[in-house]
Amino acid sequence: MTAPHATVRPTDAAHLDESDPELPTELLNVPWIDPHNHAHTLSWEDRERYALAGCRSMVMVSSGYHWTPYKPVEASDIRFLWDDAVNRRRAIERNHFFEAKLSLGVHTGVRIEDPDELLAAMDDYCALDEVVAVGETGVTPSQHVERWDVDEQQAVVQAQMELAADHDLPVLLHTPNTTPEAKREYRDDLGVTPGYEKNAGLGTDPVLDGENPALEAVKRDVEAAADAGLAEERVVASHADANNTEYLMTETDCYLSYTIGHSWLVGVDAADVANAIDEYGPERIMIDTDTANVLRTDPYAVKRAIFELYRYGIDVDDIRTVVYENPRDVFGLAE
Ligand SMILES: [Zn+2]
Repeated sequence: MTAPHATVRPTDAAHLDESDPELPTELLNVPWIDPHNHAHTLSWEDRERYALAGCRSMVMVSSGYHWTPYKPVEASDIRFLWDDAVNRRRAIERNHFFEAKLSLGVHTGVRIEDPDELLAAMDDYCALDEVVAVGETGVTPSQHVERWDVDEQQAVVQAQMELAADHDLPVLLHTPNTTPEAKREYRDDLGVTPGYEKNAGLGTDPVLDGENPALEAVKRDVEAAADAGLAEERVVASHADANNTEYLMTETDCYLSYTIGHSWLVGVDAADVANAIDEYGPERIMIDTDTANVLRTDPYAVKRAIFELYRYGIDVDDIRTVVYENPRDVFGLAE
């Protein structure tokens, strides 16, 4: 028997077919982990947004040169960043209830004057309970302010990987992104990319200038891991994109983390993640936000992607693997 319709005449609702889909209500509460962000640089309200959206755990990365005011950068500048994160981490957990762990590292986006001093200090930091990863680091094709010889960079990356292997920690790689073609150029007298507080005029000539420098950089990172005795499955390549996915998936055992918190800049979003899951399965895929105060970024990005992946046809179990189980297992979180 068809139900009577109380409306004056039939509405859209009366025309819905009977195979009304089962809606995945469990996705409203699925726990998720953000394995790469800089949430300690965000506002209190942004961190609260993580909690409101059901974030279970996060890895706050302290290694970026964006926050060191002096250029060139000295070891003590980076130590200050590490100590600032160590200092505030527990207070952040107590305010928002999610687990907040740390990744500390030496970024190669700016040449550091005395990297050996940092590497020597790093051993003690790696032994801290709250440090769950080393990074973000990785060979970078061109630097900000001052070039850094590519072999010297690779040595610094390898030294960090050796420390990670000693402490049984994973390494978070900053794989260089290829950015999509802009629809139109911004006026350059502003000096910065709108949405990214960085003086674009201070970029240096690349130290890697082959056909595909971004991919060559990742290959050097994988080589550094081998030389360091760090297993590939302990490497998480963040900022995975169309330029490096096939190589990382077919020629390595690394994890790939797709950065979707600033899609406007790097062009990677949930559709790319869904395509990668379809093609390679969910076992080595994660999603991160890379939120930071120097960039237009979205603390809700993982939560939004959870729904978007489902709309793109990904199963609930595979979504859970990608947003929760993989980062939980690799970084030892949410225990
Ligand atoms: Zn980052």
